[in-house]
Amino acid sequence: APYQVVDVRELLDSTLAIFRGKIPPGVTVVTDYDPDLPPIPAYAGELNQVWTNLIHNALDAMGDTGTLTVRTSRGHDVALVEICDTGPGVPEELRERIFEPFFTTKPVGSGTGLGLDISFRIVAGRHGGDLRVESRPGDTRFQVRLPLTESR
Ligand code: ADP
Ligand code: MG
Repeated sequence: APYQVVDVRELLDSTLAIFRGKIPPGVTVVTDYDPDLPPIPAYAGELNQVWTNLIHNALDAMGDTGTLTVRTSRGHDVALVEICDTGPGVPEELRERIFEPFFTTKPVGSGTGLGLDISFRIVAGRHGGDLRVESRPGDTRFQVRLPLTESR
């Protein structure tokens, strides 16, 4: 898979397009893209896997109603992508464990517990970035920071 300069917004839109039709009518999708975010060097297919995992989790957390917000912004030397939901949030005591492989709170058969582990490895290990969560009830943000310049 090539490491190439990619438009993050295009990747997010193409991932969102795959979810269209699976998003309940009571869930609103909002996109808020920073027009000044430059293209970044990345493994496009792997980043799409990250967006897929995070959006899937956000939708699982909200169920039938809520708002999914996909936002980009430019930091000093990073691109910031936030996948936000209005679900119940991640309890404080679980905020580190959720990134462990096979950790899931979902019923057997509906979650592998691998999504965040894989996402973390793609963001941090493969791109030299960072994946964090900020969460309180009704406002959960998974934040992906990716270097603007090559740093593998
Ligand atoms: P899975 O989705 O298969 O359970 P993940 O690694 O993707 O595995 O997520 C691990 C756990 O993190 C989930 O089971 C859930 O408890 C928690 N989690 C992830 N995303 C969210 C979210 N947006 N809101 C609340 N909890 C979340
Ligand atoms: Mg998941």
